[in-house]
Amino acid sequence: MADMDKDIRFLKGVGEKRAAMLRKLGVSTVRDIISFFPRRYEDRSRLTPIAAAGTEPVLIKAMLASDARLSRVRRGMELLKVRAVDDSGSVNITFFNQSYLREQLTAGRVFRFWGRLEGSGARRSMVNPSLEPDESPCAATGRIVPVYPLTAGLAQGFMMRTAALALEECGDEFPDYLPASVAERMQLAQPRFAYHNIHFPESAEALDCARRRLIFEELFVFACALKKLGAMKGRLPGPVIGCAGADEFFAALAFSPTGAQRRAVAEALADMRSGKAMNRLIQGDVGSGKTLAAAACLWAVCSSGFQCAMMAPTEILAQQHFETLSKLLAPFGITPVLLTGSMTAKQKREALAKLASGEASLAVGTHALISGNVEFKNLALVVTDEQHRFGVRQRAALSEKGLSPHVLVMSATPIPRTLALMLYGDLDVSVIDELPPGRQKVDTFAVGSEYRERLNRFIEKLVGEGRQVFVVCPRIEEDELGDSSLLSAEEHAKYLAAALPGLRIACVHGKMKPKDKDALMAAFVRGETDVLVSTTVVEVGVDVPNAALMIIETAERFGLSQLHQLRGRVGRGAHKSYCVLVSDAKNPEARARLEALCRTNDGFKLAEEDLRMRGPGDFFGSRQHGLPEMHIADLCTDASVLKSAQEEAGLVLADDPNLAKPENAALAARLEQLFDISRSAMN
Ligand code: ADP
Ligand code: MG
Repeated sequence: MADMDKDIRFLKGVGEKRAAMLRKLGVSTVRDIISFFPRRYEDRSRLTPIAAAGTEPVLIKAMLASDARLSRVRRGMELLKVRAVDDSGSVNITFFNQSYLREQLTAGRVFRFWGRLEGSGARRSMVNPSLEPDESPCAATGRIVPVYPLTAGLAQGFMMRTAALALEECGDEFPDYLPASVAERMQLAQPRFAYHNIHFPESAEALDCARRRLIFEELFVFACALKKLGAMKGRLPGPVIGCAGADEFFAALAFSPTGAQRRAVAEALADMRSGKAMNRLIQGDVGSGKTLAAAACLWAVCSSGFQCAMMAPTEILAQQHFETLSKLLAPFGITPVLLTGSMTAKQKREALAKLASGEASLAVGTHALISGNVEFKNLALVVTDEQHRFGVRQRAALSEKGLSPHVLVMSATPIPRTLALMLYGDLDVSVIDELPPGRQKVDTFAVGSEYRERLNRFIEKLVGEGRQVFVVCPRIEEDELGDSSLLSAEEHAKYLAAALPGLRIACVHGKMKPKDKDALMAAFVRGETDVLVSTTVVEVGVDVPNAALMIIETAERFGLSQLHQLRGRVGRGAHKSYCVLVSDAKNPEARARLEALCRTNDGFKLAEEDLRMRGPGDFFGSRQHGLPEMHIADLCTDASVLKSAQEEAGLVLADDPNLAKPENAALAARLEQLFDISRSAMN
């Protein structure tokens, strides 16, 4: 009997070391590896005559004109050379450090070689091709060959062998979550066929059939989960917050809210009056004032006698929200408590006691807030900043605790509307599409490091006019320290201090004590330093209206939306502001990102661009949404398949709402495994 849950360590040729590397790719069982799909394929099935080969990799079949000759070029480097001919021409074949091939490479034998031809005429050569003797079965050549997404240390050949072994291990038993009726209606391939052909396609047509089945299956499971989660939510009553409007709160502000802010708040308040649990996303570009909209909702709930929690993805951001909210809510006698990992045990105990007793009505903190031992007296609203850290899983976790608070999510990375509707269906969206008055477009430039001299003069000029400057350097991971092309914040600050004598330069980075960092940040906010060099800590939102220049070093290291967020730190005051992206990157993807940023200030357009460039697999990965990552489906290009998957999911759930029928057992188990949707929650 097949064992899909068998540990891959026990497959021939894997062993502990490679098993550990595979685990990094999320692969630890036979089931995982057969679901670890190739990223692309190489068609090594068609033979090309040597003379006809272009610059693309080709498959040639050629006879060796001589025995291979071995030479040592320099210490530790061995070169194996042989000449091969076919009817059309000849080619020199070279292998580096593969002297073990020498025995095989004897005059007169015929091989299939897969590789790229370089050079021209008599100099044509192929370096380190894949090869197989012509008489042996096609494994690495002569067929369509998978190419797997890999980490360092794992070779394609190893992956192919391991996938083949795992497929064999499965025998006739493969993951199959589709009810038979659905597979039949949709005319989908059988699982055994699909898994074999997705790894080792017999033909282009077979690959198509395999992909169609697996994509549909993935989207079908996804659609079922969304329907179940949606159904759960629809069923849940939410606390009724009687508050009719937020005028009283707005009246206490030093400025007036924008129309878009008022609208978003009115929509949220209407949700919370309805008796059903709110599930609302507030989308607004960086600087559009989402915090204020959230504060108005928190005010409404707290002043109606209920408790709220505000969650942020990082401690620094939690701290900042805590300060902002303390100020905004003080006029109403609402005093938030802060709950973060770096507090002392005593501080935490006090905060927890206040929440449990109901003495405190608002908690601000990191994820710890909804997990573990935090008890609330009457939690009615959870606000989270940045939707990508809070997903359906957390919702489910809360409801399993018997809580069904209203949920308000704030995000600056807008999901394109069509996709949001398809994905969430019932998630309501408020868009803050209006910036507070006085914001200006930030002029953005991408430059190479040869521009540095002029950039330094520009810094001096702006500081001379009384402005301040942010400089952001990429964070450096321990294992990247060898890469000298990366600037660390500290090093760069030293460089700037030498290049710009007379300017007051400070440097903050992630390894500093929070107290020291805060002190330096505060000094910058007060205008006591001219240039603040930092790692991305500024991303999470210091507000310095006097800052007019944002310089981002090694800009290709940042994602598009992160760059946009960083740029949002300037252009907040009355001064003309600039963003300079410094990058020597040549690769087209990086260039495209930087150019997109220069072209537009519109976060929504950038998000769509980001989606187009990165692909939704990334965009909608579990990291962002708490949803499982898509292995093979692509929510953008497979939108029509998603639609039929949703229809089929609807049919199946209408017929068997609790998935209790035997033919739906595998599906029910899969939902439980992927989405924490337990059977009890489904009733
Ligand atoms: P984001 O949407 O990026 O989270 P914030 O909520 O941090 O934006 O707001 C950015 C800045 O704009 C803050 O300093 C905030 O006080 C200010 N702000 C928010 N709303 C308004 C408004 N209606 N008028 C003027 N300033 C505002
Ligand atoms: Mg914000």
